[in-house]
Amino acid sequence: MAVKQTKYIFVTGGVTSSLGKGIISSSLAKLLQARGFAVTIQKLDPYINIDPGTLNPYEHGECYVTDDGAETDLDLGHYERFLNCPTSQSNNVTTGRIYQSVINKERKGDYLGKTVQIIPHITDEIKRRIKILGSKGKFDLVITEIGGTVGDIESLPYIESVRQLKWEMGDRVCVIHLTLVPYLSASGELKTKPTQHSVKMLLEEGVQPDILVLRTERPLNREIRKKVALFCNVEERAVIESRDVSTIYEVPLLMQKERLDEIVIEKLKLPGNTKSDLEPWREFVKSVKNPKQTIKIGLIGKYVELHDAYKSISEAFIHAGAVNFCKVDIQWIHSETLEEGNITEILGDLKGILVAPGFGHRGIEGKIIAVRYARENNIPFLGICLGMQCAVIEFARNVLGLTRAHSTEMDTKSPDPVIDLMADQKEITDKGGTMRLGAYTCVIKRGSLASKIYHSECVSERHRHRYEFNNAYTEQFKAAGMIPSGINPDTNLVEIMELPDHKWFIGVQFHPEYRSTVMNPHPLFVNFVKAALE
Ligand code: GLN
Repeated sequence: MAVKQTKYIFVTGGVTSSLGKGIISSSLAKLLQARGFAVTIQKLDPYINIDPGTLNPYEHGECYVTDDGAETDLDLGHYERFLNCPTSQSNNVTTGRIYQSVINKERKGDYLGKTVQIIPHITDEIKRRIKILGSKGKFDLVITEIGGTVGDIESLPYIESVRQLKWEMGDRVCVIHLTLVPYLSASGELKTKPTQHSVKMLLEEGVQPDILVLRTERPLNREIRKKVALFCNVEERAVIESRDVSTIYEVPLLMQKERLDEIVIEKLKLPGNTKSDLEPWREFVKSVKNPKQTIKIGLIGKYVELHDAYKSISEAFIHAGAVNFCKVDIQWIHSETLEEGNITEILGDLKGILVAPGFGHRGIEGKIIAVRYARENNIPFLGICLGMQCAVIEFARNVLGLTRAHSTEMDTKSPDPVIDLMADQKEITDKGGTMRLGAYTCVIKRGSLASKIYHSECVSERHRHRYEFNNAYTEQFKAAGMIPSGINPDTNLVEIMELPDHKWFIGVQFHPEYRSTVMNPHPLFVNFVKAALE
């Protein structure tokens, strides 16, 4: 640690949601990390679900899984991709989890007969969760992103906790408020009123922001910065412009130009003599923005209308593209639209096919048809989780001749359940947090494609599933040419399936996308893109 006591930065949002608090938080964290500070980021989500694990992806996009098996908000994926450091359960807290702890304590009698209230009991629990990360002696700085928009009823206890912490810790706390400055084309003007109002709202709740970050399509002139500064009691140089850019990975560079990190360092009285090293990041952004060629890879899934449902996959393709000097142009293909009759028309010009993770029956047959197309036409194929299970089902049906083979998730009466419920899942009825979650070891078979890709005999990857390859069929699969090339050494669970006779065909039970970061692109994605380019 570079500082004696951990300092806290809060990022709130105003005017509208989806302004990119997660990206601003990650970018600031990146800049501070590049100056040698140990930084982590936390997200507080104001909804009542205990975690996003039970949420439909249409609600808030992908559920991101950490090494310790926490099912978390997709912003944690950004934190890891930017910082290249693992996050954990403590990095994502929801209102549901806060209330659950308080109610559990109440039932145990821990409040000794007192009336349990939002202030101080809920706010104390929020503050405890914020300080947990700082108390580990590992971080100089904890950045806490408050989900939702200032003024929402449900985010009130969070803002109140920020008010209290600012009062308690003084200049160990800094508040950044992110707002929108809309451009009105009719009058040709940028408008600051929404920002003024949202800062007023924050002030009503007792919090004076130290820094304002203004999202805008057009450059902010000096007048606008001055006006916002005056109306919002913020120094003019602490009014930061955040222009729309073509890639989120450019935001740290933009924020550096705006001196966001320097202002934070000053406000928090951090050692200011640190030099920033962003060179590798700059190189990465350069290759993302100047690809030598573009290739089309199909992503077959059932939530493709909402690209956020596959956030980590699309980001992993950006990282892998940069390594291969190309841009991966993802073709978002709805599995429900795929049939034998239109498959060549829809998948015909793809250089690679990825069948995505998922749950339930909808769109499953389309995914299986897509696997068959990739297998028979020697097109590089990557199947992730359900995608791997589809590859197994397809092989069983069309190569082994087990025409009614299926996963018991979709067909409990299949005579050939090649994918079946894991033994330790059989008695489980609760849906929340009960899957096989988080990092597990996988031993790689020597001489396999997987071992050429990983250059390692043993890897660790993250999981989120209830079903698995049914080992009763292993010999039959091997004899026909589909081999398990990655196995969990403790449970014998199949982690990787591949076709040695195919150009590049891999199915993985785990989620490699969760581990891909800017500084550490995932080898499976890098190699898949490479194969697609050849
Ligand atoms: N539905 C499948 C299972 O539970 C696959 C899950 C996934 O793709 N994440 O095993």
